[in-house]
Amino acid sequence: MKYCVTCASGTDALLIPLMAYNISKGDAVFTTNYSFFATTEVISQVGAKPIFVDIDPKTFNLDPELLENQIKDTINKNEFKPKAIISVDLFGQLADYAKIQKIAKKYNLLLIEDAAQSFGARYKNKKSCSFGNVASTSFFPAKPLGCYGDGGAIFTNDIEYAEIFKSIRVHGQGINKYDNIRIGLNSRLDTIQASVLLNKLSIFDDELLSRQNNSSYYSNSLKNFLVTPYVNDGNVSSWAQYSLLAKDEKSRDEIVQLLNENNIPTAIYYKKIFSKISFYDCKESFPVSENISKRIFSIPMHPYLTKSEMDKIIDLIINYFKK
Ligand SMILES: *Cc1c(COP(=O)(O)O)cnc(C)c1O
Repeated sequence: MKYCVTCASGTDALLIPLMAYNISKGDAVFTTNYSFFATTEVISQVGAKPIFVDIDPKTFNLDPELLENQIKDTINKNEFKPKAIISVDLFGQLADYAKIQKIAKKYNLLLIEDAAQSFGARYKNKKSCSFGNVASTSFFPAKPLGCYGDGGAIFTNDIEYAEIFKSIRVHGQGINKYDNIRIGLNSRLDTIQASVLLNKLSIFDDELLSRQNNSSYYSNSLKNFLVTPYVNDGNVSSWAQYSLLAKDEKSRDEIVQLLNENNIPTAIYYKKIFSKISFYDCKESFPVSENISKRIFSIPMHPYLTKSEMDKIIDLIINYFKK
């Protein structure tokens, strides 16, 4: 993409484009049922209706076929007007944009790539943050390129929208911030965070390589015991998370407990899928995300893991299966 507009967080990087394109009450925005809350929160913040889509069981990204079904269903019901898609690159792997972009075009929908977890990832020769009309990323410390606080960025090829994003970023400014021409936010990227990012960018490629090596080491050691991450042909993940699947909820919880007892931090992304959030009052069922949320857990992943740290984690998991 040609233009990059920085902002204060990954959440604002999603909210600002929704505001700029006037997505609002009565509009439907299609998104995955399986992501961090910010992905759907921003849709509700502008007053639009999030319509959830179940995920691919291997990549955990939005399933293009189910996406098209939900769009057709929404058109038929005629209660909300289809306007946009927010597609997430979960855990660092790009979603299936070849198919998703076609669907967005066919139904004339704005496509936003939520690349909060995939900065640095690739599909063939294209990098994360180059899909859709707009791409949004986060520089929160837990993301592949993290600053020391909050930060985010929005990417687009459309200079007119890049200017609107910049205006919304500073209180809807016109010629300056005391000339307010629309409703905006205070969402500047802090200068100190920007300086951290500039420095970390110079070692970012090496960090990506280390993450790749670490994930290969984990996968080679664990693939006979658990479902290890599946990366589609042509994709290079940025490994924001390294997530494994146990066979059921009971064994997942037992492995997590064993690791925690041995001072290994773990996380479950995501225990609560969007369709189960009470105020969405969603009556549909989403069998794939429901199943994955009960079986998934993540083990430590960063560029500075040592072989002995990984071996300790691997041994604990293998011993669980041998006991
Ligand atoms: C982290 C994250 C966000 C929000 O980013 P922040 O910088 O924490 O506001 C949005 N979407 C996804 C998929 C994320 O993982």
